[in-house]
Amino acid sequence: MPSSVPAYAASSATSPLAPFAIERRDPGPHDLVIDIDYCGICHTDLHLVRDEWSHSRYPIVPGHEIVGRVVAAGSEVTSWKVGERAGVGCFVDSCRRCEPCRDGEEQFCLEGMVTTYNGTERGTKKTTYGGYSKRIVVDEHYVLRVPKGLDPAAAAPLLCAGITTYSPLKRFGAAPGRRVAVLGLGGLGHMGVKYARALGAEVTVLSHSARKREDALRLGAHEFVVTEDPGSLAKHAGRFDLVLDTVSAPHAYGPYLDLLRRDGTMAIVGVPPRPEPLAASSLITNRRRLVGSLIGGIRETQEMLDFSVRHGLAADIERIAIADVNAAYDRLARGDVRYRFVIDLATLS
Ligand code: NAP
Ligand code: ZN
Ligand code: ZN
Repeated sequence: MPSSVPAYAASSATSPLAPFAIERRDPGPHDLVIDIDYCGICHTDLHLVRDEWSHSRYPIVPGHEIVGRVVAAGSEVTSWKVGERAGVGCFVDSCRRCEPCRDGEEQFCLEGMVTTYNGTERGTKKTTYGGYSKRIVVDEHYVLRVPKGLDPAAAAPLLCAGITTYSPLKRFGAAPGRRVAVLGLGGLGHMGVKYARALGAEVTVLSHSARKREDALRLGAHEFVVTEDPGSLAKHAGRFDLVLDTVSAPHAYGPYLDLLRRDGTMAIVGVPPRPEPLAASSLITNRRRLVGSLIGGIRETQEMLDFSVRHGLAADIERIAIADVNAAYDRLARGDVRYRFVIDLATLS
């Protein structure tokens, strides 16, 4: 018998999130039943709840930064024990056979990853529901081990914001002797600053919010640039090896590409709701590269969690009760968050 679980859902692009009961499946042989303690609020949740990418399905139960405890396990599960801390990120299944899946990059599964919410379960074709809920049932292959040394609430945002910044920073060369700029100091951006610094790079924050200067320096940045100040960007032209663009709102890419030195790379992870034109000259000058990056696979996500505990890193969070989730969304839309809201699911009954 599937069990009924309390959750919060939005029933349309213009409705607030409100209490809603969902069903979770009985655990199959490889499933873990996880009681959710904390769930981070990613800007993706806001884009999807408000249908800003035009593929939302309602009712939608968001949440893909999940930390909880295993409370039951399927008959074939051997490597997890009841009571262990478990994490669930942005996807809960994939085909497991294609080349990306075999390479541990399930986010690029040729049959499509099954996203934690607003996705379609393989087999049943049911819509998936995310972590703004008390409990989730997930195949053990898609569950992360949350190291004991991490505070569980501050670890939750690592499951998306952490891996989404860690992966491109490592892949595109954040390292000693390299200059890295992080564009946008929000949930992703603040983790980007921490990881770029931990990887040994010289770090600059590019922000449209002058009030975030002290925070940026405290989080590990060496320098802070207010992008709105006239002439501020021109001073840094041709200077960076890597720009990590985490901005959620529409913005031109050209002015930030111009900050790259010869063979520099700009990695986009932010997903603004509309496309932006790009002049070829921004790329051909200095032979620049513009790349994108999408979360990370299970193996790399575990590597990121282990890296985080080794370096004593987790998110700076504002813990909220689920009843305050709509107010948190309004603040997130305004860029007013320091630096991730995390829902305490003990407040949902
Ligand atoms: P967030 O916490 O809201 O941060 C976004 C930041 O963008 C803001 O804090 C703000 O930083 C900056 N910004 C610049 N112009 C803005 C404007 N006009 N209005 C509001 N903010 C503005 O969002 P997030 O959770 O970090 O997510 C960022 C983006 O990444 C979203 O589009 C999200 O969907 C996407 N995402 C992508 C992936 C992936 O795998 N590629 C994964 C997760 C999320 P300043 O104040 O410093 O300018
Ligand atoms: Zn996310
Ligand atoms: Zn696959």
